[in-house]
Amino acid sequence: MKVVEIRREAEFQQLRSAWDQVLKTSASASIFVTWEWASAWWSSYGAPGQLRILLAYDDDGVLRGIAPLRSKTLTKYWQTAPALAFIGDGSNDSDYLDFVISSGYEKEVLQAFWDHWSEDFAQGTILQLNEIPEASPNLTQIQSLIGSKELLVSDTEVPCATVRLPETWEQYLGMLRPRFRTKVRSVLRNLESRPEVRFGFCQDKAQMERLLPVLFELHAKRWAQEGMPGVFRWQKKRDFYYALSSLLDRQWLRCGWLEWNGTIVACQYGFSHAGTYFHLQEGYEPASEHWNVGIGLRAWSIRELLKEGFHEYDFLGGVGRHKTDWGGVIKNSRQLLLAHRNIVNTLFSRGPEWSARVRDAIKPLVPGKILAVRRGMHRNGKAAAANAGDDQPTNSLPAKRLTNLAAQCYFRLGAPALVRPLRNQYQLSFSRKWPNIRWRRRTQPCGRIFCFHRVNDDSDPFFPAMSTSLFEQEMRILAKYYRVVSLRELMSHLQDGAPDDPVVAITFDDGYQDNYLNAFPILQQLGLPATIFLTTGGLDFRDPLWFEQLALAIKTTSQEFVDLEIDVPRRFWMRTEAERLGSFGRIFTLLRSLADTERRRFLAEAFQRLGSKSHEERKDKMLTWDQVRQMHAHGIDFGGHTVTHPFLSRLTPEQASWEVSECKRRIEQELQAPVDYFAYPNGREADFGEWNKHLLRAAGYRAAVSTIWGMNYASTDPMELRRGGPWERDPAVFTYKLDWYQLIND
Ligand SMILES: [Zn+2]
Repeated sequence: MKVVEIRREAEFQQLRSAWDQVLKTSASASIFVTWEWASAWWSSYGAPGQLRILLAYDDDGVLRGIAPLRSKTLTKYWQTAPALAFIGDGSNDSDYLDFVISSGYEKEVLQAFWDHWSEDFAQGTILQLNEIPEASPNLTQIQSLIGSKELLVSDTEVPCATVRLPETWEQYLGMLRPRFRTKVRSVLRNLESRPEVRFGFCQDKAQMERLLPVLFELHAKRWAQEGMPGVFRWQKKRDFYYALSSLLDRQWLRCGWLEWNGTIVACQYGFSHAGTYFHLQEGYEPASEHWNVGIGLRAWSIRELLKEGFHEYDFLGGVGRHKTDWGGVIKNSRQLLLAHRNIVNTLFSRGPEWSARVRDAIKPLVPGKILAVRRGMHRNGKAAAANAGDDQPTNSLPAKRLTNLAAQCYFRLGAPALVRPLRNQYQLSFSRKWPNIRWRRRTQPCGRIFCFHRVNDDSDPFFPAMSTSLFEQEMRILAKYYRVVSLRELMSHLQDGAPDDPVVAITFDDGYQDNYLNAFPILQQLGLPATIFLTTGGLDFRDPLWFEQLALAIKTTSQEFVDLEIDVPRRFWMRTEAERLGSFGRIFTLLRSLADTERRRFLAEAFQRLGSKSHEERKDKMLTWDQVRQMHAHGIDFGGHTVTHPFLSRLTPEQASWEVSECKRRIEQELQAPVDYFAYPNGREADFGEWNKHLLRAAGYRAAVSTIWGMNYASTDPMELRRGGPWERDPAVFTYKLDWYQLIND
């Protein structure tokens, strides 16, 4: 046997057909040892200069064996060691790796490779052979080679789960436990009986390219439920999956999908090779879990694979209930670590065992909570390390505490008064170049607009409000350290004000009665002007606005959940207050993207399913026209905020035109004064469009405010003024952050 080492990528690329030939005659038959897999993996994870593929040729010059290896550096316990590992190992994608050797040549080929490595061993290189299937004939050969040498050996068992498929679907169902069998049958029957549901396997590259982002997204959503980001946050991982699309050419890639009305709600990504399906990844819409879309798709796939004569459905690494339910049985892989005896290598091969022993010894001494925290961090850390040192998860809690501490010092030491002249005259900007911070004299007038809603002490999370005392404290801070002006003055200040005299304005949205009861007296006492944007329908009809009705219905429903088929079949849970609040947020966000007629339809359906009875609890929570007139007489301005609080961008032009002009007409009628300003309901970029601005101008408005964060200048579009917080619970943090935002003009 003659051994040739391949180090250049170009040579690796040319190996394809020769590799294929050897694989065909070898006992290793998994997708993970194909040239295509290795090459796709290398293109995403490989590093130049690390290829160490060995080829073994017999005396007639016929290729008989391949060692698909790469060099790497192992790091552990602050030590490093050179190592050789399989291409495909280290990214948690490849479960069965192996040498590719023609049947009958295992002994000779491995002996030849072994001789080739003798020098590496002598120099301390560690041979790390992960995930060799237990059934591989190469394993016994390696074990006999080890026996003949004085080597350090670490041998770890890795359990995998696989299902050996019978011939027919009925036989397969017969393998399952009765309860699960019934479940599989009924889930599949239910899904297949729905005309809007379709199953399929991905057929071509174009389809695959559309499917992959969906897989990434659904996978991330599933993990997000457990508070984890999922593996596809790493670009390299996504690159690898795109690279694997080339396996479609050989019909090895099998990606099953389940769609509902054209939207994919589940997909399962795997490979078929030599009659085995290897299941690699899956994702499904968590909101559609009540339809068991994951189980449905797996059942459909297995039935299809059976029809095509597959004999194994391999779940790959890890065992668990979800695999054994499907008839999964354990088969093991081995992780071998072979090295010459020296101190560093001893540490590498025995270290994990030792540290486990130490851990066990100290475990009883450490409080359980700390252990749990450590375990969580360790798992995250391990995943990060496995993906070649990409971004590490950060814990933001200490940062928050630090801000709080800085804010308290800042506030208590009287810094706000000292900083005021500085932030009025100068602005701070960050640049990439040293010293990274630049002071500049202000050259343009600017103004910040605050946005408030409810001000009360109800502490009702379904109707969030700022407490009266906090509102008062923040208003005192504004009155003391800032120049508070009306919206009208702010607008003219932007045009011809002094650059070193920044101003702020106070606004409220919707028109809640607590603005009159709680906020107005404080504003009066401090002499602060403000603008309230009125949703006139709320004032005229005395009913809560639609989103308050929704919040109330969710707060008071006796249902444990409601099912709504908004974009996909979704179940919204209502068992706890947290679930109810979460469901409210999700439904609101989903409605945001719908055309107005659709939004109304779903809202009506939601109310019906929630069984909402009366709005009594939220009746008369809006201002009365008398209160509006009274405040108007005392310096409070009023602006338009539509009649019904829809998402303006989702209306027809006729509806939108009516909403903006009718509310203006009503306020002007009641106040006998012009209304010049408007606040977009919900106010984010998606909630209004350019065409809405034209309508507003046509209706006679002079300016409009959004809820897009930022500072306003003369150059800011008056129909899209910036507005926001900071909304903080602590007055010190409020002051600290506000001064910072002023300094950097954010
Ligand atoms: Zn609003």
